[in-house]
Amino acid sequence: MMASRHTVLMRLVASAYSIAQKAGTIVRGVIAEGDLGIVEKTCPTDLQTKADRLAQMSICSSLARKFPKLTIIGEEAYLHTYPKTVTLKMKEPTFHVNERAEVSHVRSFGDLPFEEVDQELIEDGQWEEILKQPCPSQYSTIKEEDLVVWVDPLDGTKEYTEGLLDNVTVLIGIAYEGKAIAGVINQPYYNYQSNEKQKLREHENEAKAGPDAMLGRTIWGVLGLGAFGFQLKEVPAGKHIITTTRSHSNKLVTDCVTAMNPDDVLRVGGAGNKIIQLIEGKASAYVFASPGCKKWDTCAPEVILHAVGGRSVLFWGIKQFLSHFTCYGRSVRFILGN
Ligand code: AMP
Ligand code: MG
Ligand code: MG
Repeated sequence: MMASRHTVLMRLVASAYSIAQKAGTIVRGVIAEGDLGIVEKTCPTDLQTKADRLAQMSICSSLARKFPKLTIIGEEAYLHTYPKTVTLKMKEPTFHVNERAEVSHVRSFGDLPFEEVDQELIEDGQWEEILKQPCPSQYSTIKEEDLVVWVDPLDGTKEYTEGLLDNVTVLIGIAYEGKAIAGVINQPYYNYQSNEKQKLREHENEAKAGPDAMLGRTIWGVLGLGAFGFQLKEVPAGKHIITTTRSHSNKLVTDCVTAMNPDDVLRVGGAGNKIIQLIEGKASAYVFASPGCKKWDTCAPEVILHAVGGRSVLFWGIKQFLSHFTCYGRSVRFILGN
């Protein structure tokens, strides 16, 4: 085969973009069909639907066919393995942002051989616009086998089952040497609310591109290059707005938010969705004092935030259990409370 003039990383990001779009279509398709096939994983707020399963099969199989040497880690194990197996047989949610990923004991993905995956689920394409961008020089020699891809096929499943569809995202994060360096976020129901109201008509240009053109968007980013597919906005001056979980709260989570004395608190689903609120100026910080978020939740969103100058703060050393806090913001001063 002829060597590509593009780097492995940029080819992977360009493919992940198309693959995330396809997953977004799958997520919408399951709603349109109406049978969500909900399975409880660890507890009533930890759910898996047919959309989580199909989207993961699509993403992981598509990536594995094109990039056979990648390590791919998806959130979901398959239906028949529950309740015995949860989240890919990891004993603890030990993966956290900026922590070196110990992937040696994690196998590639799920338990379905990808040769058996329905051809209709496979996405072959790549987003050409991404290939026109230069690869940051520090990543230009990375080999396929050195990259780890963290896949959350549907982030915000609880909200998905409750019809809060614009909370949902598809997350494909790319890590190198334990650091999140590139990521793609598809939001399948972006514009969902306004679509309902406007019935698609006021946006002729997009509507011409096809029935799904209005609904959904894809955000992507690479550290050292930037983040694209959205309009960067600031929170109104002087306002401190915290975004946090809607469906995985407890006393510690709410006490922590209250202690920060925010002007307003937004409670919405999804880690991807909350990072989008930060970059679009709806919230100043994403605070979640719980070990609930895993690396597939944080890898892609973290890249998008960091690529636009945002920060994450780890609470190592306060107490062991606090080390898994998810704390992100555009302004670290605010997260730290001064
Ligand atoms: P949330 O903000 O509640 O939507 O949570 C963000 C992400 O972390 C979602 O993918 C959740 O499924 C996951 N998550 C948060 N808390 C928990 C928990 N207690 N158990 C399982 N998953 C959780
Ligand atoms: Mg998630
Ligand atoms: Mg998920």
